[in-house]
Amino acid sequence: MKANEIRKKYLEFFEKKGHKIIPSGSLVPQNDPTVLFTTAGMHPLVPYLLGEKHPLGNRLCNSQKCIRTGDVDEVGDNTHLTFFEMLGNWSLGDYFKKEAIEWSFQFLTEELKIPLQKLAFSVFEGEKENNIPRDEEAAQIWQGLGVKPERIVFLGREDNWWGPAGKTGPCGPDTEMFYWVGQEKAPDAFDPSDKRWVEIWNDVFMQYNRQIKNQKSKIKNINQGLKTENKKEEYEFATLKQKNVDTGMGLERITAILQGKDNVFETELFEPIISKIKSQIANFKSKSQISNIEKEKAIRIIADHVKAAVFILFERVEPSNTERGYILRRLIRRAIRYGKILEIQKNFTSEIAKEVIKIYKDTYSEIQEGENYILKELNKEEEAFNKTVERGLKEFERLSLREVSGETAFLLYQSYGFPIEMTQELAKEKGLELDLVRFKEELKKHQALSRTATAGQFKAGLSDNSEQTTKYHTTTHLLLAALRDVLKKPIEQRGSNITAERIRFDFNFERKLTQEEIRMVESWVNDKIKEGLPVICQEMPLDKAVEKGALASFREKYPEIVKVYTICKDFNKNEGLASCEICSGPHIKNTAELGNFKIIKEESSSSGVRRIKAVLQE
Ligand code: ATP
Ligand code: MG
Repeated sequence: MKANEIRKKYLEFFEKKGHKIIPSGSLVPQNDPTVLFTTAGMHPLVPYLLGEKHPLGNRLCNSQKCIRTGDVDEVGDNTHLTFFEMLGNWSLGDYFKKEAIEWSFQFLTEELKIPLQKLAFSVFEGEKENNIPRDEEAAQIWQGLGVKPERIVFLGREDNWWGPAGKTGPCGPDTEMFYWVGQEKAPDAFDPSDKRWVEIWNDVFMQYNRQIKNQKSKIKNINQGLKTENKKEEYEFATLKQKNVDTGMGLERITAILQGKDNVFETELFEPIISKIKSQIANFKSKSQISNIEKEKAIRIIADHVKAAVFILFERVEPSNTERGYILRRLIRRAIRYGKILEIQKNFTSEIAKEVIKIYKDTYSEIQEGENYILKELNKEEEAFNKTVERGLKEFERLSLREVSGETAFLLYQSYGFPIEMTQELAKEKGLELDLVRFKEELKKHQALSRTATAGQFKAGLSDNSEQTTKYHTTTHLLLAALRDVLKKPIEQRGSNITAERIRFDFNFERKLTQEEIRMVESWVNDKIKEGLPVICQEMPLDKAVEKGALASFREKYPEIVKVYTICKDFNKNEGLASCEICSGPHIKNTAELGNFKIIKEESSSSGVRRIKAVLQE
């Protein structure tokens, strides 16, 4: 079975079970400053898992594009990728454990025809100190379906608990499904430490809310001047009103398994890339010292990293030294560095990117539109990196070192972007000692300084939409409408990033805005704020919304039913329309809540794209 068939089968199966198929959300989370990339299918659904009503109802499913940078050290093994697709189904306060488990079971054993003999399961073992019982319920359901008790293990928080990134919020136990990839018959008892059991699917049951215990009495004590013990904050797990199911299955893993391959790189989602590297890009002629295993790993890493880079570039992220751009840069540079192991002499990342686009052009047809940009950026980055390396090499020679101290290695890394692995290789070549421990200390010191700024950004999980980001979100709708009105052009949003401190908004426009235009945009928005216009949300079929003239982003794929936010003087009489956009929200209720709008910067973002940074002042 090909990956495309599996994806289709999955979606059709859950559609038959009353789920609505929603498109993959963007890889760059919309208006969520707490993570850099979408790491799981649940991520774009956070507002709905927290209780907001989804326009398509309370049973959803999709195939979600994901990026996990946290797995980068695992990439090259048989099962971990940086970019992968996650098949998922959700219940928003609708069905719970019984149906979720039964349907997972049915899909695996009936639709995919996986023999039960090859499957094993883990469930949550419970936590006495937090009063959370062992998940006997889940275990019973599996057994009721014919699973032998010895194929079910109870595991702790590390393995079978899903929790929020913050200290409080929805959480709950999960149950995971494993497949036996060993050559020999699967053992009767499930031993989760045996690596031949590969996790394929995870059903999460959000049923608790982690909250601070006895907060009221504590505050009372403080108010009455009573001493409260300065103990660690205590938490309790309350039962959630809306219980959700959130599941995720890796498409690449299940595809490899069904095709009898022992790793994800041999499926059609990678095979054309790998064979192109082997037959046209790598240089295997010279007698290098490097083992075949190392070469194979380098090929896998290159294929993985370039694929991830293609999908990140598609979101119009540019290589840079901060945030998403930095991750993109690191992926590209790491691919190039592994290219040296294969003795690749020429620029190659864009050649591989062409193959990636071919693989996905039918599934994500929009990716082909981005092809020119993607290839151009890869070439640019590859050339820049080659220059960096050259400069670093010169510097290395110039220092004519007798040993490489940690400080020097860090200087090369920091000022010349010289990867530590290259310094290591050079040192080895020249027979010099390298103080790796000291280098790592330097690096840690530096990271500790910069981490405070980006803390939390790499964690996935539920984040609350603070009031300020909601305000900023509504303001971007006004800003887009103002730009269209002032510049008299069909301006479109090309990206937006909102934090509690500011709006960053990218749009298509070919030149710098004049001071006069900036002032006009500001006062356009401020006028609408002063008028105190209501913000109205409606749900309607996508084609109705488009007919109505609601603005949509051309790169986004929308579900059949969408939310349309209208900002308008008199909604019923259809008078004084300020803005009308398709958007998943959330938004404030009235523009009067916004304060004074101010543009603090207008600059170029990339060719043909401008960037505005703006704030609301009290
Ligand atoms: P593992 O322990 O194997 O790293 P996980 O516990 O991190 O998996 P989940 O977060 O539960 O995985 O994600 C759900 C599913 O997504 C997994 O069962 C797996 O099939 C798939 N998956 C997770 N991480 C990756 C990855 N890096 N590459 C490919 N598929 C993945
Ligand atoms: Mg993992």
